[in-house]
Amino acid sequence: METKKLVIIGSGPAAYTAAIYAARANLEPVLYEGFFSGVAGGQLMTTTEVENYPGFPDGIMGPELMDKFKAQAKKFGTALFAEDVLEVDLSKRPFIIKAKKTIQAHAIIISTGATANRLDVPGTRDGEFWQKGVTACAVCDGAAPLFRNKDLYVFGGGDTAVEEAIFLTKFASKVYLVHRRGELRASKIMTERATSHPKIEIIWNHVLLSVSGDQVVKSVTLENTQTKEQMTRDAGGVFFAIGHTPNTAFLKNQVELHPNGYIKVIAGTSKTNIEGVFAAGDVQDHVYRQAVTAAGSGCMAALDAERWLSEKGHAH
Ligand SMILES: Cc1cc2nc3c(=O)[nH]c(=O)nc-3n(C[C@H](O)[C@H](O)[C@H](O)COP(=O)(O)OP(=O)(O)OC[C@H]3O[C@@H](n4cnc5c(N)ncnc54)[C@H](O)[C@@H]3O)c2cc1C
Repeated sequence: METKKLVIIGSGPAAYTAAIYAARANLEPVLYEGFFSGVAGGQLMTTTEVENYPGFPDGIMGPELMDKFKAQAKKFGTALFAEDVLEVDLSKRPFIIKAKKTIQAHAIIISTGATANRLDVPGTRDGEFWQKGVTACAVCDGAAPLFRNKDLYVFGGGDTAVEEAIFLTKFASKVYLVHRRGELRASKIMTERATSHPKIEIIWNHVLLSVSGDQVVKSVTLENTQTKEQMTRDAGGVFFAIGHTPNTAFLKNQVELHPNGYIKVIAGTSKTNIEGVFAAGDVQDHVYRQAVTAAGSGCMAALDAERWLSEKGHAH
């Protein structure tokens, strides 16, 4: 069986950045971009304009940015495979990576990202109003002109939902936080912040039934979970804040995870509990979840991997 120095799993900003650094360090990385597991190129492939990635003062479309990441990884000699890694065996050395073909590697960087959870409701899907007023990232999209001085609707009930609602008050005329229960899951302090905020109104015991519009979102229809009464209201934007699912199922708990499924790394590093296995990007970060932080941690993982491979005599 073929043995590689380094295999990188994933294809977002973290994976491609790790590949750029690893390839330039002569580690001849092999990168599995994914196929059925998510869009190759990662979450930014599903968005329109990215305005907060440094180096692009006029903004850049998400897919174009990821094409540039990929081209740079390729330029320095990364071998790219549009395949999913189905399983890994980290109990043996070299590690075993099962994709279409099974290969071995001395080191692995896991950067399979996370998937923003979305409600599956008419009007919100790809090809409907997804990214035309419906999104799952207030920090990423909230400042866009589309959402300025509009009534915005946030769906969720945890701390993140409250944080996103508060963030959106900077741009919105009013933010409605819609929750299916009569009480938020958010901490007491966050709940207080939401209930006392002059620009936030909480709509209790309601769910989203549909989203309508023309070129962009114009209205939402909500249903009261108790009375089943429906109401349609003008809306300039719909923000899902119902959590993320880290793409770690294929690991089958071979690496230590947090209770919420994210990979545990030693603070300030990309090192997991298994020597030679590193993690970067959203798959190990449930706090920041931005392209630039993912890219930064991809760099860290490549540097950590290079040092580890050198120490073990596998870098040449
Ligand atoms: C709608 C939206 C808009 C956003 N806008 C912005 C923005 O404007 N600015 C910003 O900084 N951030 C933005 N973000 C967040 C940003 O996209 C993420 O923080 C970033 O993409 C995380 O990068 P990552 O490298 O960790 O992995 P991801 O981008 O999550 O990509 C991981 C990829 O790995 C692949 N993969 C998964 N499992 C496997 C497997 N088993 N085998 C092989 N490959 C696999 C899949 O192709 C997956 O897509 C946005 C997110 C969303 C959802």
